[in-house]
Amino acid sequence: MADGADRGGPAASSRAGAQAPERAMWCDERFDFQTTFLQCLAKHVPNIYSAEMDPLVEKQEEMVQAAILYPLECYLFGEDPDVFLEKLKQSRTSQLCGKVFKGGETTYSCRDCAVDPTCVLCIDCFQNSIHKNHRYKMHSSTGGGFCDCGDTEAWKAGPVCTKHAPGASNSPKENSECQLNEEIMEHSRRVFPSVIKYIVDMLIWEEENELPVELTIREKADSYYCVLFNDEHHSYDHVIYSLQRALGCELGEAQLHTTAIDKEGRRAVKAGHYAACQEAKEEIKRHSENVSQRPLHVEVLHADVMAHQKFALRLGSWLNKLMSYSSDFRQIFCQICLKEEAGSEKPCFISKLMLWDARLHKGARKVLHELIFSSFFMEMEYKKLFAVEFVKYYKALQKEYISDDHDRVFSVTALSVQMFTVPTLARHLIEEQNVITTITETLLEVLPEYLDKNDKFNFQGYSQDKLSRVYAVIFDLRYVLVSKPTVWTDRLRERFLEGFVSFLRILTCMQGMEEIKRQIGQHIEVDPDWDAAIAIQMQLKNILLMFQEWCACDEELLLRSYRECHKAVMRCSSNGRSREKTVFHLCGHTLESRPYRVSADPVSIHLPLSRTLAGLHVRLSKTGAISRLHEFVSPEEFQVELLVEYPLRCLVLVAQVAAEMWRRNGLSLISQVFYYQDVKCREEMYDKDIIMLQIGASLMDPNQFLLLILQRYELADAFKKIKPTKDQDLIKQYNVLIEEMLQILIYVVGERYVPGISNVTKEDVIMREIIHLLCIEPMAHSAITKSLPENENNETGLENVIDKVATFKKPGVSGHGVYELKDECLKEFNMFFYHYTKTQHSKAEHTQKKRRKQENRDEALPPPPPPDFSPAFSNVVRILNCDVMMHILRTLLQRAVELETHLWTEAMVQMVLHLLSLGLLEEKQQLQKCPEEEVTFDFYHKATRMGSSALNAVNVLMLVEKLKRVPQLDSQKDTVNWILQMFDMVKRLREKSSLATVGAASGSEAAKGDESTQDKEKAERKRKAEAARLHRQKIMAQMSALQRNFIETHKLLYENTLESQGKGDAIMEEESISSAIDYSRIALGPKRGPSVVEKEILTCILCQEEQEVKLESAAMVLSACVQKSTALTQNRSRILELSGDTLDPLFMHPDLPCGTHTGSCGHVMHAACWQKYFEAMQLNFRQRLHVEQIFDLENGEYLCPLCKSLCNTVIPIVPLQAQKINSEDAEAVAQILSLARWLEIVTARISGYSVKNAKGEKQNFPPFTNKGTGNSALEFHSILSFGVQSSAKYSSSLKEMLILFATTIYRVGLKVAPNEADSRIPMMTWSTCAFTIQCIENLLETEGKPLFGSLQNRQHSGLKALVQFAAAQRTTSPQVLIQKHLIRLLGVLLPNFKGEDTPSLLEVDMFHILVGAVLSFPSLYWEDAVDLQPSSVSSAYNHLYLFHLTTLAHIMQIVISSATESPTAHSSDSSEEAQSAQSFCREVCQYTSGCFSQDIPGWLVWDCVKKGIMPYLRCAALFFHYLLGVSPPEELLQVSEEGQFKALCSYLSLPTNLFLLFHEYRDTVNPLLQRWCADPVVLSCLKGKTIAIRYPRKRNHLIELPEDYSCLLNQASQFRCPRSSDDEQKHPVLCLFCGAMLCSQNTCCQELVNGEELGACTSHALQCGAGVCMFLKIRECKVVLIEGKTRGCVYPAPYLDEYGETDPGLKRGNPLHLCQERYRKLHLLWQQHCIIEEIARSQETNQIIFGFNWQLL
Ligand SMILES: [Zn+2]
Ligand SMILES: [Zn+2]
Ligand SMILES: [Zn+2]
Ligand SMILES: [Zn+2]
Ligand SMILES: [Zn+2]
Ligand SMILES: [Zn+2]
Ligand SMILES: [Zn+2]
Repeated sequence: MADGADRGGPAASSRAGAQAPERAMWCDERFDFQTTFLQCLAKHVPNIYSAEMDPLVEKQEEMVQAAILYPLECYLFGEDPDVFLEKLKQSRTSQLCGKVFKGGETTYSCRDCAVDPTCVLCIDCFQNSIHKNHRYKMHSSTGGGFCDCGDTEAWKAGPVCTKHAPGASNSPKENSECQLNEEIMEHSRRVFPSVIKYIVDMLIWEEENELPVELTIREKADSYYCVLFNDEHHSYDHVIYSLQRALGCELGEAQLHTTAIDKEGRRAVKAGHYAACQEAKEEIKRHSENVSQRPLHVEVLHADVMAHQKFALRLGSWLNKLMSYSSDFRQIFCQICLKEEAGSEKPCFISKLMLWDARLHKGARKVLHELIFSSFFMEMEYKKLFAVEFVKYYKALQKEYISDDHDRVFSVTALSVQMFTVPTLARHLIEEQNVITTITETLLEVLPEYLDKNDKFNFQGYSQDKLSRVYAVIFDLRYVLVSKPTVWTDRLRERFLEGFVSFLRILTCMQGMEEIKRQIGQHIEVDPDWDAAIAIQMQLKNILLMFQEWCACDEELLLRSYRECHKAVMRCSSNGRSREKTVFHLCGHTLESRPYRVSADPVSIHLPLSRTLAGLHVRLSKTGAISRLHEFVSPEEFQVELLVEYPLRCLVLVAQVAAEMWRRNGLSLISQVFYYQDVKCREEMYDKDIIMLQIGASLMDPNQFLLLILQRYELADAFKKIKPTKDQDLIKQYNVLIEEMLQILIYVVGERYVPGISNVTKEDVIMREIIHLLCIEPMAHSAITKSLPENENNETGLENVIDKVATFKKPGVSGHGVYELKDECLKEFNMFFYHYTKTQHSKAEHTQKKRRKQENRDEALPPPPPPDFSPAFSNVVRILNCDVMMHILRTLLQRAVELETHLWTEAMVQMVLHLLSLGLLEEKQQLQKCPEEEVTFDFYHKATRMGSSALNAVNVLMLVEKLKRVPQLDSQKDTVNWILQMFDMVKRLREKSSLATVGAASGSEAAKGDESTQDKEKAERKRKAEAARLHRQKIMAQMSALQRNFIETHKLLYENTLESQGKGDAIMEEESISSAIDYSRIALGPKRGPSVVEKEILTCILCQEEQEVKLESAAMVLSACVQKSTALTQNRSRILELSGDTLDPLFMHPDLPCGTHTGSCGHVMHAACWQKYFEAMQLNFRQRLHVEQIFDLENGEYLCPLCKSLCNTVIPIVPLQAQKINSEDAEAVAQILSLARWLEIVTARISGYSVKNAKGEKQNFPPFTNKGTGNSALEFHSILSFGVQSSAKYSSSLKEMLILFATTIYRVGLKVAPNEADSRIPMMTWSTCAFTIQCIENLLETEGKPLFGSLQNRQHSGLKALVQFAAAQRTTSPQVLIQKHLIRLLGVLLPNFKGEDTPSLLEVDMFHILVGAVLSFPSLYWEDAVDLQPSSVSSAYNHLYLFHLTTLAHIMQIVISSATESPTAHSSDSSEEAQSAQSFCREVCQYTSGCFSQDIPGWLVWDCVKKGIMPYLRCAALFFHYLLGVSPPEELLQVSEEGQFKALCSYLSLPTNLFLLFHEYRDTVNPLLQRWCADPVVLSCLKGKTIAIRYPRKRNHLIELPEDYSCLLNQASQFRCPRSSDDEQKHPVLCLFCGAMLCSQNTCCQELVNGEELGACTSHALQCGAGVCMFLKIRECKVVLIEGKTRGCVYPAPYLDEYGETDPGLKRGNPLHLCQERYRKLHLLWQQHCIIEEIARSQETNQIIFGFNWQLL
């Protein structure tokens, strides 16, 4: 809520003019303030807020200030309020920040210092706190919380940021707490009660058309409003629909109403007489009920009521403002709010409001909650008092909330977290208000509707929404318990225990809830709801753990709560006792028990009471209090069998599900079993059940215990000598059950990593979990975190231990970092780790065996020695060596040895071996610790003893030995060997100690012998490993030698392939360079080297047929994508034309604002094959509408059939025409064809055309100036005399493709409808050719790669095809047209013809002119009768002179643009180049009549030219190379600054001293120079009036991003939407091209483009990236790529946490830092023009994206 008008604005000025009488009246002590105040309100409020339907908010505010607030403040402060408040504001120093978060704002928590994760900082406080350098977390607020800066109880360290620290403010210390003077205090005590009472009265006012009498002063008018209220039940569309129908209003108006209702909570939708409003109300209700079963909440309110309620809220925010200035105001406010009327039972003001909260509309609630935040929560003392009130009405409030229809953020109950998590407050509330009991009782009172006839919960058919509201209560319990008290008072102990007992009552309702029964025969019809019960278990997990921790704080408390819990368990276990006990015998032992079968009787997996008891039991053991247990629970009461019973049933259920016995019970059960063992629940489910079995095993007779297990697993018969059934299914079932049971036995004996069960710490436990996770495979940090249980603070403890067990491996450019287990931890691996799922188990086993194999070790994976049981559990091991266990082991081994294949499985034997290992390890450990006679654990003895009967005449050891011969168990051989060795070792230990009494010597001898055999084995293994290693080394050496030779002989080839590896399907680049070594490497002029052409045989990717590319055969094409691009732009602020209807693309502006890029994925097809493919796809997709969005068939888009890149056309492949110059001819021509002469000939030719055409048609050509064309002897045909040849003949299919591709370039590049006859088609061809070369040159430069030989194959073949195409395209257009274009181009370069539209030298890109002129020049050879083109020699000269002319012009451009450069250093460079430059400058100075300063030193000019001309020369070299096929000099295959320049000059026939060109062509050039210098644009630039572009142009990069992501979040938090001023949450998005921050996905910033509404990003992209753009969504930490209006995709942001992982959506919230490599990858994606491709690929794979409306981004 904004706090009203700005001070100093128009409101302030009108305030001064407030009516004097009122001020006087209040000041007058004779008047009662309350009465006067109300009179004033009664008089003004209805008038001010009269126009509710269409309020003039500013006007209202002005009037309120003038009539009410200003006089009120004057009275209150006794001086000018503005002055006073300013003073107060200056002096305010609260130590608390108290900033209230809006939804979506980023909050920060410190994992090192926050007391619990609910303690958060706002971004300002965080940036100024010490936590900035700690392990912090960032999260998005759901709204409603507030900044805890300054709260000493919230932070273990650094509770205050530097901004809020005392004494940090700039005001001097003594002035820091500006005490209000007594008079003001006195006045406040008089004013506040009236104000507060008025607010409370009006907010809870229920009469629709009456006001309190005090406020009724005038005749009631018949003026009413029909008011619509917000709820969470009806959607936006529902409301809009209902309003339109009921009120007959326009869509726009209905939308306006709906938005306001959602924001404010209510809104008047109709004004009028009572009857009319009443009618509207009924209509709205009726219509809304039709669409959503429930009517909307509508009321008819009297205008005056509405007005006063509105003003009450305004007063609320007024109070808010006052309180933010002064602690005194806050205290007075709180006192008044808490004051109870003497002798009255009525709640105080604040409680009244709280109780009314659920009935208030959203806007009112917001004001109320803000009032509470700014008053009570800012004063610790009063926070406590408020909390007491809150708890007093807790039940009522929660019940209101549960039946409320607003989200929790808008409920006063959401404030609980602010109080309950404060440790001292929580303790106070427990002690004084019994808050634990209050909460649990609330739960008990709201949950009964879910109780069944047995008083157990049953959530079948529950309402998700309602139940999630109940969770809020459960969460409160969690908040109260989150910090364990350090000091216990008797009262606290009693209250806690009371709460615990009350909590046990809830658990009692859960113990055994939702029982299930095995379905036999029929499959169940409907899967029962299971998620509610599991969700409650998840919610309760940490609460249960915290209760146990609290209980364990104190021995007395622990024992007493144990007793209570035990009692509760017993009460729940009493049923089913009615059955008669039965007796079960096995190998001489008997078990008496009541019959129960999991497979037939009901069973439940919900046993929180038993599990709590198990938890308390291990804590008893840990603290040692267990020795006193008998004082609290007598042994007779204890009944361990009964305690074990239910958890055991649960485990049996899991086994039976695994055995597929519960198939017919459907998925619901599978899910429950999954969660039972899943990390989210297992601590308080599965783990505790195992503990309970361990408790049973430690307290029961071992044989009895095992008999009970056998019986519950329904396996009693399986171990008797009865001939088993023949039913295969049943046998399989038995086998699975046996495996499951053996596994549980392994866990009972072997799983000791629980503090209390053995002497391990929590760290040990976590380390063991991590070790076992990493034994499966290396894992990312987040994957490990997800697999570990979180504690109440959402911490796993991972970071504290991870470095002890694992090493971090950094990620590459994609993927994420992983942790790898340290080698020394491998020995901890336990194959039967109880948290492994079946898949994890087999994966881990596989990985570990593989690893051992690689290390040349045996594959035995015996259990690691477990830690010793603590005394209370030491008896558990007895089950290993008891008779029943021996019987089980023997029976199973026997079956394996006897090869009764169907009765055993390998897994079973593996488990038997594991149990044997555990027994032997136990005995070994005991023997090593104590003297032999004290060791009663006799596993060895039992295992080597014969069975009693004849049938059992083999002992376990013998059976194990026999296993070696079982072929099916080959893979277990190593384990068997290990066990046999262990038998041996234990035997020796036994003998050793018995011998030790006889003679110590022999004992050690034996041990030595033992060792020496082991040593021998070790040595042998080592030898083998060493041999293997040497062998590998030898092979590697041989291979690398081979490789070296290969590289040597094929050096060039190899270097080229390195770049193009993995793209083997395209042609190798520069295939012929090596063979052309001897030829001249000059591309232009008489010394031109030969074209290196090889036969090109390509394979069509569609029909797989090979074909040689020839002019006359059917065309082959390359898939290609043409797109507009701003990648090279020098000026992003230039407005791009969205449609090119009137654009003339012949000249490119030197800013390169927007070009047309042609790229290819390099895949070749027959033109015919491609056409068939394209048509088939069109047909196919016409039938499937939704696919439209991937690609736009209308615009020729398709996916490359091979690599799925997005393409929109094909480039025809035109073979290069080999040309070779006859050197004699060339010499001869050189004698006569100077530049001057060449110019004359060209001019003659052109004027000849002009004359010729003038005869018949209109004048086609611009008039010539006759300068320089004096030699009239030269006639029209003389150009032909230097050599001509006939034009190439193209096959018709090639021609067709030439036209098709040229038309696509034209259509896409100009965004116009295709038109094959348009005169601009050739221009666009040259333009894309030039632009694409410039892009590639730019890319090679930024990547630091050599100009030649380093292109990717696709780039190489694409460019080659493009240049050849561009040369051939001319033949498909009318030659007159080409000539016309050529003449316009030459107009820039030549002195003698200049057209009207010839641009200034500084307004064109020279490279574009070069490409256009070279490609169009052959059109001058056109004759009516014959199709001619220049011969090789002629074109060599044409190219040379055209190139020299453009180069001259470009040098001129560079010199002019660098004229304003001032020398930064002095250099005495007097090289030849510098001198030439100097003399050139003098000349220019002359021609510009001094505008060009002569003072610029020559060396500086030369420096500028040399640097500035590089990109142009590089582009030209690329262009001529791809045009002519002349091999470039070696130096251009490497990266070298100096060598490169020389090589370029030599390749392009330039003198290295470029100024010599001017000298050489002096006579021709001078007139040209004069013309250029006289150009007004040039002069204005030289005079500094305009700025010309500098060369070399700047290379574009993505904007610089901060290293720390929170800097970006900070920027985002300060972001204000440029178009709207409301405080709504915005989605700031950063354009990575230009750095603009945009307001995305919001109607406020939508833009109307061509009649379509486009979102801020989409419309920005049209300008910034010609439709293709890259954004960073800051709050979500995601990169978004978009193209056009319909396409886009999400890409990971280049920010990684310290574990090398990205965090889209900031879900994990770890600190993030910029990863340069990844950002570079994004940069390349842009510069390589692969964004569209990336989008298409991503849309292919994630089809979900379709739902998103990219247009509105
Ligand atoms: Zn703050
Ligand atoms: Zn702060
Ligand atoms: Zn910290
Ligand atoms: Zn084909
Ligand atoms: Zn492809
Ligand atoms: Zn931009
Ligand atoms: Zn906006």
